[in-house]
Amino acid sequence: THFGYRQVPKDEKAGRVADVFHSVAAKYDLMNDLMSGGVHRLWKRYTIEMSGVRRGQRILDLAGGTGDLAGKFSELVGPEGEVVLADINASMLSVGRQRLTDRGLVGNIEFAQVNAEELPFPDNHFDCITIAFGLRNVTDKDKALASMLRVLKPGGRLLVLEFSKPRAPGLGPVYDAYSFSVLPTLGAMITGDRDSYRYLAESIRMHPDQESLKAMMEAAGFERVDYYNLTGGIVALHRGFKF
Ligand code: SAM
Repeated sequence: THFGYRQVPKDEKAGRVADVFHSVAAKYDLMNDLMSGGVHRLWKRYTIEMSGVRRGQRILDLAGGTGDLAGKFSELVGPEGEVVLADINASMLSVGRQRLTDRGLVGNIEFAQVNAEELPFPDNHFDCITIAFGLRNVTDKDKALASMLRVLKPGGRLLVLEFSKPRAPGLGPVYDAYSFSVLPTLGAMITGDRDSYRYLAESIRMHPDQESLKAMMEAAGFERVDYYNLTGGIVALHRGFKF
């Protein structure tokens, strides 16, 4: 249906993910604010701070969607820097491009429709890669991490912002109730698409916890890997370096 994406995916998960993001693209930003009570903005601000990105650098915002991080990076790297907003989904990418262009962020941003598992960029190219709420949706995460390592410069860093396992006592059950009943209902009300938000809740539950993701990053070859729990571990920011 949408852009012929239904036919492309070889596996069921990729097809499901494509359908979800084609379906929600137009309402994605509104839903993010509603579902997180605006807190996703703080998680992203923290990610920007931890990125240490400076003028003149090359940044890849992978699974960048509607461009919250890419837009901020575009301001930080300045005219001599380079930001690539990359996403597998044409609908999300076109909302992102429109949004950033409307904000006047042009000149140092490029848009690329890519699969995180097979990045079409040269070796040792980027100073920093971010993937925010994206890794969860990738079918072969090990392959994607290896691909990210390849395109990072030596000394470069990867930041993975993703839902994780709540650590705060008592938060688990509340959070489960929220994600499996409130989320799909909110999704149905705003986008008319309950199933996409049910997928979201399921994909959050299936995603590796803090220590498992850290181990995956180390296995892929990242060094000095650490993570920071945000909002009681509902979200974690993992960081790893290429040396
Ligand atoms: N990073 C943005 C943010 O934090 O608001 C968007 C996150 S959105 C929840 C997840 C994004 O991952 C979607 O835009 C989706 O198209 C993208 N995505 C899913 N699988 C991908 C893949 N294999 N390669 C690249 N992007 C992918």
